[in-house]
Amino acid sequence: MPNYIKGIAASDGVAIARAYLLVEPDLSFDNNKVSDVNAEVEKFQNAINTSKIELTKIRNNAEQNLGADKAAIFDAHLLVLDDPELIQPIEEKINNEQVNAPTALTEVTDQFITIFDSMDNEYMKERAADIRDVRKRVLANLLGVELPNPSMIDESVVIIGNDLTPSDTAQLNKEFVQGFVTNIGGRTSHSAIMSRSLEIPAVVGSKTITDEVNQGDMVIVDGLTGEVIVDPTSDEVIAYENKRERFFEDKKELQKLRDEETVTVDGVHAELAANIGTPNDLSGVIENGAEGIGLYRTEFLYMGRDQLPTEDEQFEAYKEVIQSMDGKRVVVRTLDIGGDKELPYLDLPDEMNPFLGYRAIRLCLDQPEIFRPQLRALLRASVYGKLNIMFPMVATIQEFRDAKAILLEEKENLTNEGVDVSDDIEIGIMVEIPSTAALADVFAKEVDFFSIGTNDLIQYTMAADRMSERVSYLYQPYNPAILRLVKQVIEASHKENKWTGMCGEMAGDETAIPILLGLGLDEFSMSASSVLKARRQIKGLSKNEMNELAERAIDCATTEEVEALVREYSK
Ligand code: PEP
Ligand code: MG
Repeated sequence: MPNYIKGIAASDGVAIARAYLLVEPDLSFDNNKVSDVNAEVEKFQNAINTSKIELTKIRNNAEQNLGADKAAIFDAHLLVLDDPELIQPIEEKINNEQVNAPTALTEVTDQFITIFDSMDNEYMKERAADIRDVRKRVLANLLGVELPNPSMIDESVVIIGNDLTPSDTAQLNKEFVQGFVTNIGGRTSHSAIMSRSLEIPAVVGSKTITDEVNQGDMVIVDGLTGEVIVDPTSDEVIAYENKRERFFEDKKELQKLRDEETVTVDGVHAELAANIGTPNDLSGVIENGAEGIGLYRTEFLYMGRDQLPTEDEQFEAYKEVIQSMDGKRVVVRTLDIGGDKELPYLDLPDEMNPFLGYRAIRLCLDQPEIFRPQLRALLRASVYGKLNIMFPMVATIQEFRDAKAILLEEKENLTNEGVDVSDDIEIGIMVEIPSTAALADVFAKEVDFFSIGTNDLIQYTMAADRMSERVSYLYQPYNPAILRLVKQVIEASHKENKWTGMCGEMAGDETAIPILLGLGLDEFSMSASSVLKARRQIKGLSKNEMNELAERAIDCATTEEVEALVREYSK
């Protein structure tokens, strides 16, 4: 019998494949005494050997798919398995105390982890993390439990998980991962945003998917509607195969617009840019005919590794992006870590409300030793094309002034060192916090441009966590309160002859686009996969009519009224 589950549509497209469960396995065990200690030691040694074979495979796979620096993490894990100072005490414990292997493994590794964790030394803390990881694998092998490992997937699957972290998502191999479904998250969770840049169909916030699916079940994911079918009938499989075919045909049709300008029927140009997370996303930007990059989320450069990227590593990445865009504008956002984007090696404090806490520009101003190398790398890369720099999560004008002062200081330092830096870098901010939107007229006098980050602006204005499927009904991009803030920011910038872009997901939203056009938004930056659809839509709209629509939308009382109005103007 098919099982129908509804979640939040996160990334367009249809996937049909077997389920791959990415869930934490049950590694509980009894601490029974053993009578045959030799057999128990042998069992332990076998588990170590199997773990080594698995880790070597994972390591080689990672080197091939993700590069040598990512593979180095697994080299460190292999060293742990070869460390007699760790292995011998475990065997001695089994021999002397007749405890079973899982107990001996856990007790001995616990001692090491406690010691390393308590040291005030990043390197030692990382060793504790390595031991934790390795212990999990050995324990799984002792208990005969299989650990999920997305980087080893080598057949078509739909990933099923409670949530996917941004770094899990970054490691998905597009060749095999057809789609994914999660219990938690909303349309603007970072895993959802990344699934759109990877063009992997996805449904998030399904609440129960991990309880409804078994490993290997057939699953259909409809990323257009948010529907998921587990164990579909053969008729349903055929119907969705057809839907997938139509989706691909439409994409092909859209390709014809790739080199066209985005101009309304009455001749007004709208700039369509793309959001990227890594240089790997550049091919999507070019294939989808984006006119620039409106948001480069640099934090992904800092993820999936065990230390900060160096200034030179960053320089190479920024240079590649700026150079590939061939003179088109590239807006790079400085490090926006915190919230749902963690960096284990930074050891950030645990907070009650991480989205309201120590993150982004707050952290960068507090830890200039992290901020300055990024700014230097950006400034050095600026000579390879058209670079704009913007700061994330700016709440006060002082934060902007401080960040800009550091940037200018680094520029001067580089010039004194004889390094070339472009004189054409615009410096702007993300408008993601209501205080900044409210004070847009003041900011507009000092910044070169605004980029409205609606993903956060909506959550902070509506006090509705963007990650929570339970309050997703309050996460309302078309709420007139949001539209008024957007209008205010655009008008404030125009008054000072500055420009405003939008890089939140709202910029690529079919219902929002007509209103944003009417409000005078200068640049729409979205997932690359949405650019051509937006172009087709805008080419069918009249700027004049959208001005009228926007004026009326601002005066609406509810989201539903705004949606009805957009429908009226779309006829
Ligand atoms: C935003 O908040 O709208 C934004 C673009 O930034 P992020 O989604 O990375 O928080
Ligand atoms: Mg944001």
